[in-house]
Amino acid sequence: MFNNKYVEKVFNEFKLKNKGQNEYIQACQEILESLENYITNNSFIEENALLERFLEPERTITFKVTWMDDNNQIHVNRGYRVQYNSSIGPYKGGLRFHPSVNESIINFLALEQCLKNSLTRLPIGGGKGGSDFDPKGKSDNEIMRFCQAFMNELYRHIGPNTDVPAGDIGVGQKEIGYLFGQYKKIKNEFTGVLTGKPITFGGSLLRTEATGYGLCYFTDRALTYLKDDSLKGKTVIISGSGNVAIHACEKAQNLGAKVVAMSDSSGWIYDPNGIKLHYIRQIKEDRKARIKEYLLKAPNARYTESKEGNPTIWSTPCDIAFPCATQNEIHLDDAKLLVKNGCIGVFEGANMPTTLDAIHYLIDNDVIFGPGKACNAGGVATSALEMTQNSMRMTWSYQEVNRNLKQIMEDIFDSICYTNNKYSLKENDLLTGANIVGFEKIMYAMLLQGI
Ligand code: NDP
Repeated sequence: MFNNKYVEKVFNEFKLKNKGQNEYIQACQEILESLENYITNNSFIEENALLERFLEPERTITFKVTWMDDNNQIHVNRGYRVQYNSSIGPYKGGLRFHPSVNESIINFLALEQCLKNSLTRLPIGGGKGGSDFDPKGKSDNEIMRFCQAFMNELYRHIGPNTDVPAGDIGVGQKEIGYLFGQYKKIKNEFTGVLTGKPITFGGSLLRTEATGYGLCYFTDRALTYLKDDSLKGKTVIISGSGNVAIHACEKAQNLGAKVVAMSDSSGWIYDPNGIKLHYIRQIKEDRKARIKEYLLKAPNARYTESKEGNPTIWSTPCDIAFPCATQNEIHLDDAKLLVKNGCIGVFEGANMPTTLDAIHYLIDNDVIFGPGKACNAGGVATSALEMTQNSMRMTWSYQEVNRNLKQIMEDIFDSICYTNNKYSLKENDLLTGANIVGFEKIMYAMLLQGI
């Protein structure tokens, strides 16, 4: 698979050690493929075993979470925290509560998080955690009891200078509030140990919007630089209808794009007149209902259920695609459809939503490919801004945070472009440049800190 013997050896050992962890192996392969030439040209990486040192998490914690539902039934879930790399700062990365969560998912997310956090140039290391707990259909009290039980173990491993978790799928402001409340009770201290907190007790303005907004800032910069164009007037499709998708839609519309499709795990809607975001918010944020209900408000829209044989959202003609739901949602066939229908850019709001063969196809067909670790870094960057505000015991204005967020996203794009030029890479391949920039900083930090 690899021409470089060292990279081949490291990858084979990685596969053996992490047998059956498909998402984790996929993320590793994607990173190694793009770093291979760089590693060949920098022999000190092999001499100092820097790849092996990077690809092994510093600490992996799994724990039992026992909680009681509203009918006094006892349940047991598994909790995870992977503290992957702390060379450039305290571990930082979200918590995901979803039934699909397992070791492979948390490991791949933690690995990607390291490179993402490095790309922001802020002093944050990488980690990720979560549980196979399913918040869907649970009462507020059940969610609170689960969060408290989860924190009863997690508190031992985190701290404002050690590891600062945040939200992800299934973990929003409400869950962060319960987790924070329990940490404060146990430790008797009020610190910035979690980010994504409600504004009333240390949350940063714009954190909720940051990932989706950041995705649009990055995309707009890429279109300006690579195509002398912008999001204005573009037709956009967005998968998902959660935090990232809703705020990506909001900002894309503000910047003059027309969003025509969105989805949830049951299906997707197409509205040729442009998505009415306030209906989506009512359905998803207020009522936690299914996206299909959009048809009740917009009879001209069309709904397609997600099932084998049905067309996917990626069959919708568009200029720009924002996958914002979950991993591995754009497969090779979807990529082919996107190219056939004239898509010029795929920018990932979710983590690893595009499979490797689909990424290759998009790049080979001159589609701009923006990887999640770059495009969705606005969330963690704003979390780092929240940490700064908490340490200073200050709050910044919306305008101040927004200015910082926009600057960080543009700087990420510019650093990737600079690297692409430096190594004569394809200019639409933002993945290789992102991996080099992200890895370089961590690698030097590991080297300078000794073994
Ligand atoms: P939310 O829980 O708010 O929303 C997730 C959305 O994706 C929902 O619409 C959900 O549909 C859909 N979805 C989840 N799983 C699947 C699936 N297996 N198939 C189809 N649709 C699915 O999560 P976020 O918006 O916070 O996160 C979305 C993505 O963005 C994730 O990959 C996350 O890691 C990434 N991300 C999030 C950040 C943040 O700040 N929140 C930061 C950086 C990355 P349904 O309601 O039916 O479950």
